[in-house]
Amino acid sequence: MARGKVYLVGAGPGDPELMTLKAKRLLSEANVVLFDRLLDPRMMEGVKAELIDVGKSAGAHKLTQEEINQLLIEKAEAGNTVVRLKGGDPYLFGRGGEEALALLERGIPVEVVPGVTSAIAAPELAGIPVTHRGVTSSLTIVTGHEEPGKDSPLDWSAIARLGGTLVVLMGVSRLEQNIAALVGGGRSPDTPAAIVEKGGWEEQRMIAGTLADIAERAKGAKIEPPAILVVGDVVLLARQMAQKKIAILRPAPQQEESARLAEAYGFMPISAPSIALAEKPLPDDLMQRINAAECVAFTSANGVEMALKNEAIQACLKEKLIMAIGPKTEQALARRGLRCEVPEEYSSSGLERMLQGKCRSLLFLRSAQGSQYLSEGLKAAGLFVDDIALYEVAPSRDPSLDELIERAKGVDIFAFTSSSTARNLMERARELGLERTLREALDNATVAVIGKPTAEELARLGVRVDVIPEKFTFEAMLQALRRPG
Ligand code: SAH
Repeated sequence: MARGKVYLVGAGPGDPELMTLKAKRLLSEANVVLFDRLLDPRMMEGVKAELIDVGKSAGAHKLTQEEINQLLIEKAEAGNTVVRLKGGDPYLFGRGGEEALALLERGIPVEVVPGVTSAIAAPELAGIPVTHRGVTSSLTIVTGHEEPGKDSPLDWSAIARLGGTLVVLMGVSRLEQNIAALVGGGRSPDTPAAIVEKGGWEEQRMIAGTLADIAERAKGAKIEPPAILVVGDVVLLARQMAQKKIAILRPAPQQEESARLAEAYGFMPISAPSIALAEKPLPDDLMQRINAAECVAFTSANGVEMALKNEAIQACLKEKLIMAIGPKTEQALARRGLRCEVPEEYSSSGLERMLQGKCRSLLFLRSAQGSQYLSEGLKAAGLFVDDIALYEVAPSRDPSLDELIERAKGVDIFAFTSSSTARNLMERARELGLERTLREALDNATVAVIGKPTAEELARLGVRVDVIPEKFTFEAMLQALRRPG
């Protein structure tokens, strides 16, 4: 029988369009494809071969390298054209060399097809050129996951002394130790550093900082593999490469976290609070009303924080069915040890579906200007709805908002996180005599909203909305903004 052949093919960092033409052709010609976990399923579109996921085949256990080699040999010896598809480039920390040698030993023909490596592409896609004239002229690529007990452990102090750009692959689990080794070896703690997670994927994020704080930041952002650590002054260039300016209109206390998220997704944040939150005195009959309702609903983390400052409220909520609209509100409750349920969709119908059969009466603890949209839908469905205003949304009077309006033409994206952010932006522009300027800027920019009530408010204001995420969170909005449209 004719012997088959094995192609060791690089698939690139994740985006199927970053595969080579040769990889695409070989996939369409192969009889058998062995691929790793983490490869985008769109790469296999139209592929007629037998597909074997060596990341979790046979009873969901991951095949060992030895088993993969055996399988390649078997399939090739049966006369197949086999594609062994690997993330990035097959010969950079991909064990492609081992597979090639195992096959050659058996006399099986092997051809390697280079791929775009994540070591260069992931930083690049996050706006970091790994070399840059006048900044650095060397690049070192190492593994951050050296197997313990190996004969030649990496000499981190030598690596530290090299300077230039350092790229660490497979470095998430040993991030702190590796950074400590670099700093211990003499690299300054002030050296810029970044982590690029899932480069080239829709979920791509970048966290930037310095060697002194990057591990902490990565932990805070819950960075997970696959991710790459980049160390060196080139990291500073990412800021200049981020071209899209996004105006964030949330209240001041949320600005920092939102700006950090926007940066992680490759945007340049402009902080311009258009609203401020003013706490309101609680009504005297508050407890009676809480007790009368079967379910209590919070619509924002701010609401949770204000309500739970009151110990009596906190105590009686322990007994209640609590509803939180969205993950941030849920987290705020969890921080206070309260459990809640979150509807799949932030809308009256989402809430309605959740409440069905569970309760007949609901009390909102939220802002005085809370959207009537929610309560009306619920009332129409036959629920008894009560509403207590914890705080009032007021104009922010923040000078950075005026500046934003004056320079609105330079803004690429307006991010509206509530109806009131939209109303107050427009109102302030009117007061400044700049409504026309603002409207023109909104016309030319991308307008993103967090959810339907906000979209409706913008429609009322006569502003076109371009982006509503599927999940109504600020982060989902940033992800949706990055989707090619
Ligand atoms: N041969 C691959 C690397 C395999 S090692 C290549 O050339 O890209 C696996 C490591 O690569 C991961 O732990 C991670 O550090 C890095 N990696 C792979 N794909 C990545 C991506 N899309 N974004 C960030 N890092 C990635």
